[in-house]
Amino acid sequence: MSKRTYLYSPWRMEYILGEKKAACVFCHARDSANDEENLVLHRAEHSYIIMNRYPYNNGHLLIVPYAHQMNINDLKPEAFTEMSNLVRILERVLKAAYNCDGINIGMNLGSAAGAGIEAHLHLHMVPRWRGDSNFMGVVAGERVIPEAFETTYKKLQKELLRQL
Ligand SMILES: [Zn+2]
Repeated sequence: MSKRTYLYSPWRMEYILGEKKAACVFCHARDSANDEENLVLHRAEHSYIIMNRYPYNNGHLLIVPYAHQMNINDLKPEAFTEMSNLVRILERVLKAAYNCDGINIGMNLGSAAGAGIEAHLHLHMVPRWRGDSNFMGVVAGERVIPEAFETTYKKLQKELLRQL
Protein backbone atom coordinates (compact mmCIF):
# COMPACT_ATOMS: atom_id res chain seq x y z
CA MET A 1 0.00 0.00 0.00
CA SER A 2 1.43 3.33 -0.95
CA LYS A 3 1.68 6.02 1.61
CA ARG A 4 0.23 9.31 0.50
CA THR A 5 0.56 12.70 2.05
CA TYR A 6 -2.46 14.96 1.89
CA LEU A 7 -1.91 18.66 2.03
CA TYR A 8 -4.30 20.82 3.91
CA SER A 9 -4.32 24.54 4.34
CA PRO A 10 -7.39 26.61 5.21
CA TRP A 11 -7.08 29.11 2.37
CA ARG A 12 -6.73 26.34 -0.19
CA MET A 13 -9.95 24.84 1.13
CA GLU A 14 -11.66 28.21 0.83
CA TYR A 15 -10.39 28.30 -2.74
CA ILE A 16 -11.84 24.89 -3.56
CA LEU A 17 -15.21 25.77 -2.02
CA GLY A 18 -15.23 29.24 -3.56
CA GLU A 19 -14.68 27.79 -7.00
CA LYS A 20 -18.13 26.20 -7.01
CA LYS A 21 -19.84 29.59 -6.71
CA ALA A 22 -18.43 31.29 -9.81
CA ALA A 23 -18.61 29.71 -13.25
CA CYS A 24 -14.96 30.49 -13.87
CA VAL A 25 -12.93 32.90 -11.73
CA PHE A 26 -10.50 33.61 -14.56
CA CYS A 27 -13.29 34.51 -17.00
CA HIS A 28 -14.84 36.61 -14.25
CA ALA A 29 -11.60 38.55 -13.71
CA ARG A 30 -11.16 38.87 -17.49
CA ASP A 31 -14.63 40.38 -17.92
CA SER A 32 -14.66 42.55 -14.82
CA ALA A 33 -13.88 46.25 -14.98
CA ASN A 34 -12.30 46.51 -11.53
CA ASP A 35 -8.77 45.22 -11.97
CA GLU A 36 -7.51 46.26 -8.57
CA GLU A 37 -10.35 44.51 -6.72
CA ASN A 38 -9.72 41.38 -8.78
CA LEU A 39 -5.93 41.70 -8.31
CA VAL A 40 -5.37 41.96 -12.07
CA LEU A 41 -1.97 43.61 -12.50
CA HIS A 42 -1.67 43.90 -16.24
CA ARG A 43 -3.66 43.21 -19.40
CA ALA A 44 -1.71 42.19 -22.50
CA GLU A 45 -3.13 41.38 -25.93
CA HIS A 46 -4.00 37.70 -25.39
CA SER A 47 -3.55 37.23 -21.67
CA TYR A 48 -3.42 38.97 -18.35
CA ILE A 49 -1.40 38.85 -15.12
CA ILE A 50 -3.23 38.36 -11.86
CA MET A 51 -2.13 37.88 -8.25
CA ASN A 52 -3.14 34.54 -6.81
CA ARG A 53 -5.76 35.22 -4.13
CA TYR A 54 -4.70 31.99 -2.39
CA PRO A 55 -0.94 32.26 -2.73
CA TYR A 56 1.75 29.78 -1.78
CA ASN A 57 4.09 32.65 -1.18
CA ASN A 58 4.29 36.43 -1.33
CA GLY A 59 4.10 37.65 -4.91
CA HIS A 60 2.55 34.43 -6.30
CA LEU A 61 1.40 35.46 -9.78
CA LEU A 62 -0.62 33.82 -12.51
CA ILE A 63 -0.47 34.43 -16.24
CA VAL A 64 -3.91 33.68 -17.65
CA PRO A 65 -4.92 33.62 -21.32
CA TYR A 66 -8.20 35.39 -22.07
CA ALA A 67 -9.39 32.27 -23.90
CA HIS A 68 -11.15 29.75 -21.65
CA GLN A 69 -9.17 26.67 -22.70
CA MET A 70 -7.89 23.56 -20.96
CA ASN A 71 -4.96 22.75 -23.23
CA ILE A 72 -1.99 24.72 -24.50
CA ASN A 73 -2.69 23.44 -27.99
CA ASP A 74 -6.17 24.94 -27.91
CA LEU A 75 -4.63 28.39 -27.52
CA LYS A 76 -3.60 30.46 -30.51
CA PRO A 77 0.18 30.14 -30.92
CA GLU A 78 0.57 33.88 -30.43
CA ALA A 79 -1.26 33.63 -27.11
CA PHE A 80 1.22 31.07 -25.81
CA THR A 81 4.12 33.09 -27.16
CA GLU A 82 2.83 36.10 -25.30
CA MET A 83 2.60 34.08 -22.08
CA SER A 84 6.26 33.10 -22.52
CA ASN A 85 7.20 36.73 -23.01
CA LEU A 86 5.32 37.65 -19.85
CA VAL A 87 7.28 34.98 -17.96
CA ARG A 88 10.48 36.76 -19.01
CA ILE A 89 9.12 40.10 -17.84
CA LEU A 90 7.86 38.71 -14.54
CA GLU A 91 11.20 37.07 -13.81
CA ARG A 92 12.66 40.57 -13.79
CA VAL A 93 9.71 42.03 -11.88
CA LEU A 94 9.82 39.44 -9.07
CA LYS A 95 13.58 39.70 -8.69
CA ALA A 96 13.48 43.49 -8.63
CA ALA A 97 10.44 43.85 -6.37
CA TYR A 98 11.16 41.00 -3.96
CA ASN A 99 14.83 40.22 -4.36
CA CYS A 100 13.89 36.53 -4.42
CA ASP A 101 16.53 33.80 -4.63
CA GLY A 102 14.51 31.65 -7.03
CA ILE A 103 11.17 31.29 -8.82
CA ASN A 104 8.91 28.27 -9.31
CA ILE A 105 7.34 28.48 -12.77
CA GLY A 106 4.81 25.98 -13.96
CA MET A 107 1.44 24.83 -15.16
CA ASN A 108 -0.83 22.09 -13.89
CA LEU A 109 -2.82 20.88 -16.89
CA GLY A 110 -5.82 18.87 -15.73
CA SER A 111 -6.98 18.01 -12.22
CA ALA A 112 -4.83 14.86 -12.26
CA ALA A 113 -1.83 17.19 -12.46
CA GLY A 114 -3.07 19.27 -9.56
CA ALA A 115 -4.98 22.03 -11.35
CA GLY A 116 -7.41 23.81 -9.02
CA ILE A 117 -9.22 25.31 -11.99
CA GLU A 118 -8.62 22.89 -14.81
CA ALA A 119 -11.07 24.34 -17.33
CA HIS A 120 -9.08 27.54 -17.77
CA LEU A 121 -5.36 26.97 -17.99
CA HIS A 122 -2.95 29.32 -16.23
CA LEU A 123 0.74 29.57 -15.47
CA HIS A 124 2.08 30.01 -11.94
CA MET A 125 5.09 32.06 -10.94
CA VAL A 126 6.04 31.77 -7.29
CA PRO A 127 9.02 33.68 -5.89
CA ARG A 128 11.18 31.71 -3.49
CA TRP A 129 13.71 32.61 -0.86
CA ARG A 130 16.38 30.42 0.67
CA GLY A 131 14.92 28.92 3.79
CA ASP A 132 11.23 29.52 2.98
CA SER A 133 8.79 26.63 3.26
CA ASN A 134 8.82 24.00 0.55
CA PHE A 135 6.60 24.81 -2.46
CA MET A 136 3.98 22.14 -1.78
CA GLY A 137 4.84 21.45 1.83
CA VAL A 138 2.82 24.21 3.43
CA VAL A 139 2.34 23.48 7.10
CA ALA A 140 -1.31 23.08 8.12
CA GLY A 141 -2.82 26.25 9.48
CA GLU A 142 0.28 28.34 9.03
CA ARG A 143 -0.02 31.28 6.71
CA VAL A 144 3.22 32.19 5.04
CA ILE A 145 1.97 35.49 3.64
CA PRO A 146 3.20 38.39 5.78
CA GLU A 147 2.30 41.14 3.31
CA ALA A 148 -1.14 42.61 2.57
CA PHE A 149 -2.54 42.11 -0.95
CA GLU A 150 -2.88 45.84 -1.42
CA THR A 151 0.80 46.41 -0.68
CA THR A 152 1.87 43.56 -2.95
CA TYR A 153 -0.40 44.82 -5.73
CA LYS A 154 1.02 48.34 -5.65
CA LYS A 155 4.61 47.15 -5.41
CA LEU A 156 4.30 44.71 -8.31
CA GLN A 157 2.36 47.09 -10.53
CA LYS A 158 4.98 49.79 -10.08
CA GLU A 159 7.76 47.36 -10.98
CA LEU A 160 5.77 45.99 -13.94
CA LEU A 161 5.41 49.46 -15.43
CA ARG A 162 9.16 49.81 -15.14
CA GLN A 163 9.88 46.45 -16.80
CA LEU A 164 7.27 46.36 -19.58
ZN1 LIG B 1 -12.57 30.71 -17.89
